[in-house]
Amino acid sequence: NNPPVITIDGPSGSGKGTIAALLAKKLGWNLLDSGALYRLLAFAARNHGVDLTNEEALKVLAAHLDVQFGSSKDGQGLSITLEGEDVTHAIRNEQIGAGASQVASLPAVREALLQRQRVFLEAPGLVADGRDMGTVVFPDAELKVFLTASADERARRRYLQLKGRGDDVNLASLLDEIQARDERDKGREVAPLKPAADAIMLDSTSLSIEQVLDSILSEVAKRG
Ligand code: C5P
Repeated sequence: NNPPVITIDGPSGSGKGTIAALLAKKLGWNLLDSGALYRLLAFAARNHGVDLTNEEALKVLAAHLDVQFGSSKDGQGLSITLEGEDVTHAIRNEQIGAGASQVASLPAVREALLQRQRVFLEAPGLVADGRDMGTVVFPDAELKVFLTASADERARRRYLQLKGRGDDVNLASLLDEIQARDERDKGREVAPLKPAADAIMLDSTSLSIEQVLDSILSEVAKRG
């Protein structure tokens, strides 16, 4: 019997990363930030001069990614090391996000990353966030959440997040980038962004982080 899994899928900026980290902490479970793997691949490709359309080379790179996940100092999210370099913050910008979405549309890349994601499933349980956690990677998860929010609200949140980090950002262009990324993620042939048939839909547009967390925790409680 496998340990339990909670999947949280949804578009960029829906808050799934924040919610997944808080939920994992609350439950004392492991955390998989699957988007980070695609971001790491885009980052590594840039470091190694690999073209983002070179599926064969990206597949090899994906299989050999030298990455370590640790707990971050604030206990939220993960600290990430790539080839010995701390890239926790370096992979969190829209440029790498767009590159991640580009490599994520390649079937050989997704295949190469599949096993690397499933190894995160260890006792006592796993909270996994991404685009295809409930549909492809962990189809047997006990609880699947599909977290959405309006594009405007998601752009606004991303704006505040990046601004808070001191990045130079523009709200209108963030909205454009987020919408372009959503379209690519929804429209691709393999593992498109869509809710699993048995997912619970949660619209966080006018909810606080605490309200989203509470509503997921009450679903967890229902399942005993
Ligand atoms: O969630 P995050 O914004 O970090 O993901 C970056 C990109 O990686 C997404 O836009 C998506 O294209 C891709 N991704 C994916 N499948 C996942 C997680 C992320 O295709 N499970």
